[in-house]
Amino acid sequence: MTVRRAMTPARMERIWSARGGLCGNCGEPVPMRGADVVYDHRFVLWITGDDSDDAIWPLHKACDQVKTPKDLKVIGHIRRIIKKSNPETRPKPKMRGGRSFPKVKTMWPKRKFGR
Ligand SMILES: [Zn+2]
Repeated sequence: MTVRRAMTPARMERIWSARGGLCGNCGEPVPMRGADVVYDHRFVLWITGDDSDDAIWPLHKACDQVKTPKDLKVIGHIRRIIKKSNPETRPKPKMRGGRSFPKVKTMWPKRKFGR
């Protein structure tokens, strides 16, 4: 697991403000701190080790719980993409069903995966 930097109150405030105080999942206002807010590294940390403020969203606790299974799904997909983009690990081309990217509703407006 990647070691995370400590979440200081100042950092929380900075991140919260940067997001306009909105939940990264549902877009509703979220408290800056307290039991109902979770500061969530998107899957970016998991993949790139990016631990910058830009990689963190405030989420309602409930939203975080909803989001996590979706994240895992997306992470699995991105892992496969990364694997494919690396010539050394790229699997031999084979058509199996031809499934495209799963329909995951965009949880983070105006943002694309990664950067
Ligand atoms: Zn929410």
